[in-house]
Amino acid sequence: MSIESKIHELQRTLPEGVTLVAVSKTYPAEDILQAYRAGQRIFGESRPQELAAKHEALPADIRWHMIGHLQTNKVKYIAPFVELIHSADSARLLETIDREAAKNGRTIDVLLEIHVAREESKHGWSYAELNDYLGSGAYRRLEHVRFRGVMGIATNTDDMQTVHDEFTQLARCFDRLRHDFFSESFDTLSMGMTSDYPQAVACGSNMVRIGSYIFGSRSY
Ligand SMILES: *Cc1c(COP(=O)(O)O)cnc(C)c1O
Repeated sequence: MSIESKIHELQRTLPEGVTLVAVSKTYPAEDILQAYRAGQRIFGESRPQELAAKHEALPADIRWHMIGHLQTNKVKYIAPFVELIHSADSARLLETIDREAAKNGRTIDVLLEIHVAREESKHGWSYAELNDYLGSGAYRRLEHVRFRGVMGIATNTDDMQTVHDEFTQLARCFDRLRHDFFSESFDTLSMGMTSDYPQAVACGSNMVRIGSYIFGSRSY
């Protein structure tokens, strides 16, 4: 199936209210343009310099999302244009995003990345850490950051019960944070990728990040 037909199929089958982020990291501009021609406008990347280069080279109405781990010294590459940062995983990173957004006269939307997977390597806050940080009230000083919701990655496993439990846990964190600290504008629950997006959607995801299903398997 072509990239265009994959996009069309996802547009047809994802429930209403679920936003598709086409994860284009490592894929060339030509592949992105194929998805673009099928109507896709939101693309996700995981490396800041690659994201900035693609933003330069590709149509201006593409909405770029940063989905990968972000080092503070690289925020500057994407701050002028990024639409949503899914991977806000520390107070220091949030402060840097705030500063870089201010320099660019912008407010940047972010998702708080919560760690639920069993793998040690995954980034993100535990719910307890996040609750402490938000409870301290420090986040209210970040005038150029808008908190839009939560992002999470489930364990990479065939055991669908584990995946289901982790997505349920993320959905519960999202609801609690929204209730305890934020309001209606905290509205985005980003979870689900190629291997597990139907489970994520069943657990309440309203933003899925899909790469290899659309573009084919990555070679790294
Ligand atoms: C690469 C990546 C995806 C997409 O993964 P696929 O398995 O190709 O769909 C989603 N989310 C994050 C954070 C990623 O790094």
